[in-house]
Amino acid sequence: MFTFSTIKDYHIALLNGNTTCVSTVNHYLQAIKDSYHLNAFLEVFECEAIDIAKKLDLNRQQGMPLGKLHGVVVALKDVIIYKGHRASAASKILENYISIYNATVVEKLLAQEAIIIGINNCDEFAMGSSNENSAFGNVKNALDTTRVSGGSSGGSAVAVQAGMCMISLGSDTGGSVRQPADFCGIVGLKPTYGRVSRYGLIAYASSFDQIGIFANSVEDAALTLEVIAGEDEFDSTVSSLPVPSYSTLLEQAKDQKFSIAYFKETLDNPALDPEIRDTFYSFIKTLTENGHSVQVVDFEYLEYIVPTYYILTTAEASCNLSRYDGVRFGHQTQHINATLTDVYKATRSIGFGKEVKRRIMLGAFVLSEGYYDAYFTKAQQVRNLLLQKTNTIFEKFDAIISPTVPTVAWKFGEKSNSATEMYLADIYTVYANLVGIPAISLPLFKHSNKMPFGLQIMVSSNKEVILHSLSKNLIKLK
Ligand code: GLN
Repeated sequence: MFTFSTIKDYHIALLNGNTTCVSTVNHYLQAIKDSYHLNAFLEVFECEAIDIAKKLDLNRQQGMPLGKLHGVVVALKDVIIYKGHRASAASKILENYISIYNATVVEKLLAQEAIIIGINNCDEFAMGSSNENSAFGNVKNALDTTRVSGGSSGGSAVAVQAGMCMISLGSDTGGSVRQPADFCGIVGLKPTYGRVSRYGLIAYASSFDQIGIFANSVEDAALTLEVIAGEDEFDSTVSSLPVPSYSTLLEQAKDQKFSIAYFKETLDNPALDPEIRDTFYSFIKTLTENGHSVQVVDFEYLEYIVPTYYILTTAEASCNLSRYDGVRFGHQTQHINATLTDVYKATRSIGFGKEVKRRIMLGAFVLSEGYYDAYFTKAQQVRNLLLQKTNTIFEKFDAIISPTVPTVAWKFGEKSNSATEMYLADIYTVYANLVGIPAISLPLFKHSNKMPFGLQIMVSSNKEVILHSLSKNLIKLK
């Protein structure tokens, strides 16, 4: 019977002849069928995955060296495009659209011999916190199917949570990797903005978007980042810094004592579940008992970060989504004797879901003449202030910690009638995207209602090595 622990152990099992890529793929295909009711996959590449697995088995048996992700079964959020496969952003406007090229991350995964098993459901155009905005149905949390998976990368989180793949890639614009990871009890890593190429990532808000990783362990997340990070001639915002060997540097700071900050306002937030607050405080105690220095810091901007995030991201989204006009690609609503404008209007009215339309309108509003300075410019100024504040904090501290989300996964429908309530649930995650820093959610805790919740760690830009080491350190203390 196959049991997956880490990629490293899987590779040992392959080399010892204890398993094969084909039997592994079959195992995951069966798991996907068994968990069909969770609605985590929009498409599964059954024959293709088996064919690739056969080829990899043959190569290995012939003594060829293993790629870093040899035979690793990966799933992709439906915003990361894979040539010849669907790319719909979980939207009707792109339903049946087939991608004509590979995202850079896909090229990198394939070059290291990963097996892409399918495409995951998500919130439409990655807009949402609960995966209730997909045009193809909700994704259910495998631990309690009356509860949401989190969003927007809910399908990718559940795919790892329920053992339907080894790792998955999502996108994180304001928490869409860390928040569902928290709700599902797995690891969710958002790298520094620009660490991973966005080429082939369907854009939501380009100055925030970053591809992230879901995994069962920090080790697997670090190894995957090592594969997908790095320069790319197709994305000018990618950092040219060399990619460290994240997977071997994991234990680098094994015995280091870290200097850690947390924000007073984060813990004073009335929306924070008291049990999560208490657990967080008692974990701080554990940290100090283990020699780390933990200090509370004033963060006077907390109440501004959600509005700032939603002003700037909707502004960017309204521009990015203007390309879906029914002419260049995707769905087109036909009209007899229609003008071009009629086609645009009908296509966009029918093709986009409610939340996406809301955000396009919000974005168009904050960018409109007369309101631009009051909203967009002001929000940019707040973003700058946040950046300055963050730099000051990292002059003194190695990391900032917080709960990842103020609550555990909520029940379906609980927040869907109030956009504001839903948006406020992003209060702890959007900060890292506003300032571009890397962050991780670690599955450390369990609520008395049996749902998991995580600890978020944020470090300074391009300090992923520290982020991974610190994560490994903290997991041990649990
Ligand atoms: N929940 C946030 C939003 O709806 C984050 C989404 C994301 O990171 N893609 O914008």
